[in-house]
Amino acid sequence: MIHVVGFPQDNNSSFMTGPALAPARIREAIVSPSANMTSETGVDLGQAGLWENVPDVMLNGLHGQTAFDAIKTRVANILADGHAVLGLGGDHSVSYPAILAHASVHPKLSILHIDAHCDLYADFEGNPYSHASPFARLMESGHIARLVQVGIRTLNPAQQTQVDRYGVEMHHMRDLSGIDAIEFEGPVYVSLDLDGLDPAFAPGVSHHEPGGLSTRQVLRLIQTFRGHLIGGDVVELNPLRDINGMTAMVAAKCAKEMIARMVLDAGLR
Ligand code: MN
Ligand code: MN
Repeated sequence: MIHVVGFPQDNNSSFMTGPALAPARIREAIVSPSANMTSETGVDLGQAGLWENVPDVMLNGLHGQTAFDAIKTRVANILADGHAVLGLGGDHSVSYPAILAHASVHPKLSILHIDAHCDLYADFEGNPYSHASPFARLMESGHIARLVQVGIRTLNPAQQTQVDRYGVEMHHMRDLSGIDAIEFEGPVYVSLDLDGLDPAFAPGVSHHEPGGLSTRQVLRLIQTFRGHLIGGDVVELNPLRDINGMTAMVAAKCAKEMIARMVLDAGLR
């Protein structure tokens, strides 16, 4: 069973808040009567026993390590019960504790990270918990086998140093010629920052970075990368900037295809 859990935290955002409001909006869009519950890959997500919503992690007023401990403990408990997790952010900082919890259950975990930004700053404006730093924390942990990034279009020299330090495999937005060959051995966690998409497709995010992925390119990656998907998250929806819930629907569509891929890879159907 895949448990869909919300991480309503945005106090590690560097530019604007709003993503704490996102989990409820994505949950609504997943079951919106405007669409049906069958994934493009043919998995009927209306079928009982494949996935369920579980309550958000209570993060009211929590900051820094305290908030991360709450997320990590909750994810670890779900995994210990034998279930899988699809997390709904929140800003991207929530992925650090969520992925750490997965790494302790899934040795040799690899990450497929879709984003406009590589989020590898050692710290950002003095905040080591920043949503610009989760993948630095993860790579420092030594528990991640590979970090493969797609859609990056904001790399600066400070982050290039981190890319080199941690051996990050980067598919820059300006050259996606290698993405059909992405292949993993062992378990894979997909972390989808919605600003990896072009703002034309996903305007409801805090950081509008033009020249990004289409919705179709992201769906294709989720559906076809070679590897075994065991968990993931969809982060950085900012409902305060969304237009008619369109970006929430993009988030939900990607979430549904991720759940379906997890169902298929786990042999649950
Ligand atoms: Mn990010
Ligand atoms: Mn981003």
